Amino acid sequence: MTEIKAGFVGLGAMGWAMAGHLQRVGLLAGVANRSAAKAQAFAQEYSVLGAAAPAELAPHCNVIALCVSADADVLEVTRAIAAHAQPGTIVVDHSTVSSKTAVDAQKLMRAVGGDFLDAPVSGGVEGAKNGKLSIMVGGDEAALARVKPVLDAYGARVSHMGDIGAGQNTKAVNQVLVAGAVQGICEGLALAEAVGLKPEVLLPTLMGGAANSWYLEKRGASAMRDEFNVGFKLALLHKDLGIVREVAEAAGTDRSVIEKCLADYAELMAQGHGDEDVSALIRLKRKK
Ligand code: NAP
Repeated sequence: MTEIKAGFVGLGAMGWAMAGHLQRVGLLAGVANRSAAKAQAFAQEYSVLGAAAPAELAPHCNVIALCVSADADVLEVTRAIAAHAQPGTIVVDHSTVSSKTAVDAQKLMRAVGGDFLDAPVSGGVEGAKNGKLSIMVGGDEAALARVKPVLDAYGARVSHMGDIGAGQNTKAVNQVLVAGAVQGICEGLALAEAVGLKPEVLLPTLMGGAANSWYLEKRGASAMRDEFNVGFKLALLHKDLGIVREVAEAAGTDRSVIEKCLADYAELMAQGHGDEDVSALIRLKRKK
């Protein structure tokens, strides 16, 4: 393949660190973000092009990675890139969106001689910072082979899950497990507080046995300290679970965990906690 010149769109909790890894391995040509000040700040810190809009990256890049918020953002950014893309440009999307959005975005890029891969990630902000994300990819295998050096910059594992949309379907499954784990952990830790158990003895004990998990290790202590400012915004998990509900409805499988989590996170958002980490669910557990 011709030399990779990568762009990155979406410099949030995940994207800022991921773009930093791309710069570290020498593949990053430029960045863009909805609020342009973030792109300017990144450009200054890392000495790359800070584009005023995603379309401005297209003439300079043959691979453009996205980590934006929701379905409409992925389609808006892909449409803007497609209008200015060089033939052969591949857009690789790390946002969590629906598999239908992935299919629609692939059509936009293929219409201009490019391609699109859905490549959602798991591993949290820690995984993005450490460059240890698990990346689940849907789409053409040859296109994946071309962008693999980009994904290797911030991924510990890159898995080809199948055709376009298969990455997002994998992420939907991932989010059921995440949401269920956070429900159990928050309920258990609220109970522990209520019966007077001390976090400094409780947490290592739980982590030493079958109850251990990524969320218990990374968010158990901070949740018990009422710290919810680092991590995965609960409004984003609520958005993800709306997608997951549609996938499960279409598949005809049980949705009890999904519905309970959707209702709880809607309640927290209505109380003004939407920007807090998903472990802020412990607030509701303490009340009961
Ligand atoms: P975030 O902190 O809210 O960042 C989103 C970034 O994308 C912001 O910088 C935002 O710009 C930018 N953006 C949004 N729409 C845009 C558009 N239309 N054009 C250009 N830039 C746009 O969210 P995040 O936590 O990084 O998550 C990003 C995606 O990854 C989401 O789909 C999320 O579900 C998924 N994800 C998150 C985690 C996690 O642990 N945080 C883990 C796995 C997957 P502004 O500065 O203007 O807001």
